[in-house]
Amino acid sequence: MKAVSYDRLVTKNWVNFKAAVPRGGISMLDETLLFKWMTEFDHQIQTDKAYLSGLDAEIGDGDHGDNMARGMSAVMHTFKTPNQSVAEQLKAIAFALISKVGGAAGPLYGSAFLRMSKAAVDTQQLDQLIQIGADAIADRGGANFGDKTMLDVWAYVPAMLEHHTLSSAGLAQLAAHTKPMQAKKGRASYLGERSVGHLDPGAVSSQELFQALLKAQSALKTSPNQALKNGTD
Ligand SMILES: [Mg+2]
Repeated sequence: MKAVSYDRLVTKNWVNFKAAVPRGGISMLDETLLFKWMTEFDHQIQTDKAYLSGLDAEIGDGDHGDNMARGMSAVMHTFKTPNQSVAEQLKAIAFALISKVGGAAGPLYGSAFLRMSKAAVDTQQLDQLIQIGADAIADRGGANFGDKTMLDVWAYVPAMLEHHTLSSAGLAQLAAHTKPMQAKKGRASYLGERSVGHLDPGAVSSQELFQALLKAQSALKTSPNQALKNGTD
C-alpha cells in the first residue's frame, strides 16, 4: 500500500488548520451517520448534477455529474436492505458506485469505499476510515497530491477530522486549489497546460462528499446515542 504523507500535507499549509474553528464533530461512523451522510451527499449530487458535468466538459468528457447522480441513486437503493452493519453497508455502497458510476470516478470512489468496508470490521473511527479510503484512491489511480484529482481533497480530510477542523470553507478551499494545477492523471492530463484554470470535477464532488458528512454530523450531534459514544459531546 502506498503511504500518503499526511504530515507533509499539513505542513504545506494550504489549509490553515490552526485558524479553523475547532468543532466537536462525531468521530465514529455508525449506521445512522452513514445513512444520513449518503442521504445528504445524494441530495447534493442530484442538485449539482449539471454543474459537475459542466466542470467535466471543460477538461474531460462532460459526464461526471450524470455518472455520480446515477451512482448515488444506486447507493441510496442499497439502504433498502435491512440490518446491515457499517462494514456491509460500505461494501454495498462500493459495489453500487463501481457498477453505476462510469469514467475514472466509479473505480476510484468504489475502491475507497471497498477498502473502508474491510477496515470497518475492526474500526469505525472516521478519520482512520477516510485515511484508508484516501490510500485506496492513491493506489488505484496512481495519483499524488497536486496532480489535480479527487485525492487533493481526500488526502487532507483525515487530518482535518483528527484535529476537529473539518469545515465547509476548508473543503471549498481544497477543491479551489485544483484550479491552478496542471492535471497529471486522468483524461484532463491529455490537455497538458490547457487543464490549468479549471476545477477538477472529482475534487469538487469529493468536496461535496465531505460537506455532506459535516451536515450529517451536525444534524446528528444532539442525538443521545451519538453523544454517549463520543463521550465529551
Ligand atoms: Mg468524465
